[in-house]
Amino acid sequence: MKTSIACPKCNGQITLWHGLQAPTPFRIRCARCKTKLRVKLRGLKIAFVGIIIVAVPLGGYLGYLIATRHWAGAALLGVALVLGWFFLELLTGLLLFTRAEFTPID
Ligand SMILES: [Zn+2]
Repeated sequence: MKTSIACPKCNGQITLWHGLQAPTPFRIRCARCKTKLRVKLRGLKIAFVGIIIVAVPLGGYLGYLIATRHWAGAALLGVALVLGWFFLELLTGLLLFTRAEFTPID
């Protein structure tokens, strides 16, 4: 498992931290030369859609718990969602840095 890749343009290090800051897993920006890189991996889009399909109802349920003032349940689910999301981002980042192809977008 890799936690960093070399930028194909400037050879600068792009670390997992930069990957975590990217809003989607499909694009990442090199911190050194500012080149946008396209992330290519088979199954990535399907995995992303799958995560959204699971995350949206959970977010909706959290909203319902807050609206109906079930604070204990809302806090528990909120913490679980944040932790789950963080580990998922970390896992996705590791997987992408190890398996995906990064190509510059001009
Ligand atoms: Zn670069």
